[in-house]
Amino acid sequence: MMKTWNKRTKAVHAGARRSQYNELSEAIYLTQGFVYETAEDAEARFIKSGEDEFIYARYGNPTVAMFEDRIAALEGAEDGFATASGMAAVNAALMSMLRAGDHVVSARALFGSCLYILEEVLTRFGVEVTFVDGTDLAAWEAAIRPDTKAVFFESISNPTLEVIDIKAVSTLAHAVGAIVIVDNVFATPVFSDAVGQGADVVVYSTTKHIDGQGRALGGVILGTKEFIRGTVEPYLKHTGGAMSPFTAWIMLKGLETMDLRVRAQTASALLIATALEADGILQNVIYPGLASHPQYDLTKAQMGLGGTVLSIDTGSQAAAFKLLNALDIITISNNLGDAKSIATHPATTTHQRLSDDVKAMLGITPGLIRLSVGLEDTDDLIADLRGAVAAQ
Ligand SMILES: *Cc1c(COP(=O)(O)O)cnc(C)c1O
Repeated sequence: MMKTWNKRTKAVHAGARRSQYNELSEAIYLTQGFVYETAEDAEARFIKSGEDEFIYARYGNPTVAMFEDRIAALEGAEDGFATASGMAAVNAALMSMLRAGDHVVSARALFGSCLYILEEVLTRFGVEVTFVDGTDLAAWEAAIRPDTKAVFFESISNPTLEVIDIKAVSTLAHAVGAIVIVDNVFATPVFSDAVGQGADVVVYSTTKHIDGQGRALGGVILGTKEFIRGTVEPYLKHTGGAMSPFTAWIMLKGLETMDLRVRAQTASALLIATALEADGILQNVIYPGLASHPQYDLTKAQMGLGGTVLSIDTGSQAAAFKLLNALDIITISNNLGDAKSIATHPATTTHQRLSDDVKAMLGITPGLIRLSVGLEDTDDLIADLRGAVAAQ
């Protein structure tokens, strides 16, 4: 029956498991371990566990399993493994499947920590990584080789909001048998059809829109049953990095309201981007849902709407700092997808580690501010931003 449900129904009901008490709201099983009736039962469970048979919370837990099943159903993936953070998910998706000598092609516009894994960690273990401009299909085609094992990209890059063509890159990767791993945070599960468009593995930082209220770190890897149980689970269950049951419960509750929140935030983001662009004072307003965005048509085809994040360029770090310090409602922080609107200066915070050359190549200019639009009144947010733009 669940297979025919639409996303909003799955986000509320999929994956629910009830105890003997038939509780309405999902229970939090704050237990690290599980009891076996007999020594033979313990032995049997270690050989092969059934659907509702757990061993140790590092391997799996009923509350975590509910979250994994719900988000997998929502994404249209066969299975999922929840992790302690988004970075634990990105790391495990790559490390679990790669070995020395393998070749990976990655978009170069990445979140700072994703870049660290691809550039510093994988290469230390003998994995060769080729970076490309993710929006340039000819560059992907030239970089993907017959021996390429995986391609990796953020479907919308952080913080420059480049949109990458999942379908086209997947077709190129699949032609050589490479696995397509998509970090889909900015698309959100609400607007994602990444699996339908060809992604083999979809990764989320659930810290962002899935919690959506800035409470807990989390991540999830979604893919085929074979990839999740055969490749990811053995790696994660022995290296740690499991999601806590309490976090899984927060994420389950977050999924129930995610569609409403993300759609409201997206509608607000479009109104704000449109207003700031029309004012004509800022050097640049970058938002995938604006007709002026270089991948506007692709965004419409791939996601429908432009998402909850926009970036603005003030022209200089001094102007950016003045604007940030003049904000009243919008807070300076570095989460995104939160109910609270948040402004970030990537060049001096999330992407500080990068050299000036790399920042310039990635479009992380000194004046760039990333704006995650929250759930406040849109008119209040526009007034706050207009006041701060006037102050810069
Ligand atoms: C935040 C983020 C991550 C990391 O997630 P954490 O939960 O903070 O570990 C990875 N990729 C993207 C695109 C992100 O925005």
